[in-house]
Order: sequence, then C-alpha cells, then structure tokens
Amino acid sequence: MPQIEPVVKLIRYTPVPEEIVAMAGRLCYSPSDLDALEERVSRQDQSKYLQKVSSMGHHSLLEHAVFTFGLEGVSRALLAQITRHRVASFSVQSQRYVGMEEDFDYVVPPSIRELGEDAVAAYCAQMEQIGAWYAQWMERVPKEDARFLLPNAASTRMLVTMNARELLHFFSLRCCNRAQWEIREVAWRMLDLAKEAAPDLFHRAGPACLFGSCPEGKRTCGHPETARQRAGLPEK
Ligand SMILES: Cc1cc2nc3c(=O)[nH]c(=O)nc-3n(C[C@H](O)[C@H](O)[C@H](O)COP(=O)(O)OP(=O)(O)OC[C@H]3O[C@@H](n4cnc5c(N)ncnc54)[C@H](O)[C@@H]3O)c2cc1C
Repeated sequence: MPQIEPVVKLIRYTPVPEEIVAMAGRLCYSPSDLDALEERVSRQDQSKYLQKVSSMGHHSLLEHAVFTFGLEGVSRALLAQITRHRVASFSVQSQRYVGMEEDFDYVVPPSIRELGEDAVAAYCAQMEQIGAWYAQWMERVPKEDARFLLPNAASTRMLVTMNARELLHFFSLRCCNRAQWEIREVAWRMLDLAKEAAPDLFHRAGPACLFGSCPEGKRTCGHPETARQRAGLPEK
C-alpha cells in the first residue's frame, strides 16, 4: 500500500491574467470602446495601474482572472478543509465510483515520520489492516458503503478553480503558520505557481505578516520570519 506525496499543478488559467484585470479596471473609468481598451492594455505595462486599483480596494476586478489547479496525493483531511472555501469550484475523485480494490494510497503526517522508522511501520501496518477490512466489505456491500472504513489519511485527487480575489483570500488564511501543515504546504505551492503565472496579481499574496502585522492576536505563531523565508523575502 503506497505512502504518497502531494502533487500540485497549475492546469489552466485565464490567458494574460493581468491584462483582463487591468482592462476591467480601465473600462470602469474610461469613455473608450472595447477595442481601444483591449489595445491599450496589451500595448502598455499594467503593473503600476494594477497596484493603484488594488490599493483603492477595487478587488472585484480580480474576479475576471481564473486559475485551475490539480491536486493529487493529498488526504481526505485536506479535502474537508479546502472545500470550506465556498467561492471555489471543485471536482473530486469519487469514493462511490472509484474503488480501492487492491489497496489505497495514503498520506503519512510529518509528526509520525519524525518519530522514526518504527512509528512509520506501525502506522503503515494500521493502514494495511484498514485496507484489508475495506476489501472484505467491498465483497459484500457497494463501494459507497465500504468507503465508510477509509481514514482521513486516504489520498484523493481534485481540480480546484478559484478566481484571483478568492486565491488572495485563500493564501492569506492557508499560508499562515496557524493553518494545518498539509493545506499550508499545498497553499504555498499554489502561491508559487500563481505568482509565476501572474506576478503583478500575486506579488503581495500570502499571510498578513509578510507585509504588515499579524491579525491573530494572542493566537499568533510568533514566527513571521518563517513565512518570510518561505516567500523568499528578506528578514525584516
Ligand atoms: C487556521 C484555521 C482554523 C480553522 N478552524 C476551524 C474550525 O475549528 N472549525 C471550522 O468549522 N472551521 C474552521 N476553519 C475554517 C474557516 O472557519 C472557514 O470556513 C474557511 O477558512 C473558509 O473561509 P471563508 O469562509 O472566509 O472563505 P470562503 O468560503 O472562501 O469565502 C470568501 C469570502 O467570501 C465571503 N463569503 C462567502 N460566503 C459568504 C456568506 N455565506 N455570507 C457572507 N459572506 C460570505 C466572506 O467574506 C469570505 O471570507 C479554520 C480555518 C483556518 C484558516
């Protein structure tokens, strides 16, 4: 039964995302027609303009740029958390229709890995036992009922689509050190990919502590430097 590592891919995104966001902004404040607006945003660098509208709080413009990520090798525990983001769209591999006949892939938490080989072996043996129980039930009941045996560690695969506004919100919550380790790792990898695709939209993305103060109050992790390191920013 394979232990599995997360895979995060940016599958598709709005072509030249900065241009569509800038065009949406310019359209609001300009008498120009669509052709002229389109020509203007493709001719001129829009970085400064995007910074200006973003600092004005005109965040709905960001909804015109959409990004679709593929995630696999992530746990059903992650699934429960990421699907709380209601402004995203999801397609998730079904445990009703896709059976784990031989065995199921699963995620091993780092805290168990840190305990050493014996702990990992014990955890893997428990997963195998669950797999065996699952296989027994698969002979007697439909997949949709046998799956009740499967643990939060069982891996899944999904497509997630978010617009840039929702992504900024998602990154602010889930790249934070207070987020759970698996969704935090996935969120940082999504941010790396989003930044590569649209640097002007995501250059200030991430937890609040990267560019200002921590909003968590008494619950602060107290280690903004780790977020800055992960974002590749110099120490403050
Ligand atoms: C560190 C951490 C710990 C957490 N712990 C728990 C926990 O113990 N228990 C638990 O149940 N959840 C927990 N959550 C999940 C959390 O409560 C949210 O459900 C999740 O982060 C999605 O955030 P959201 O609702 O802001 O975002 P989204 O659903 O992505 O929505 C984006 C924004 O749209 C707006 N919006 C969306 N829907 C509505 C609506 N119906 N009405 C008004 N405005 C709306 C809001 O401004 C919202 O911020 C935790 C999250 C984090 C990051």
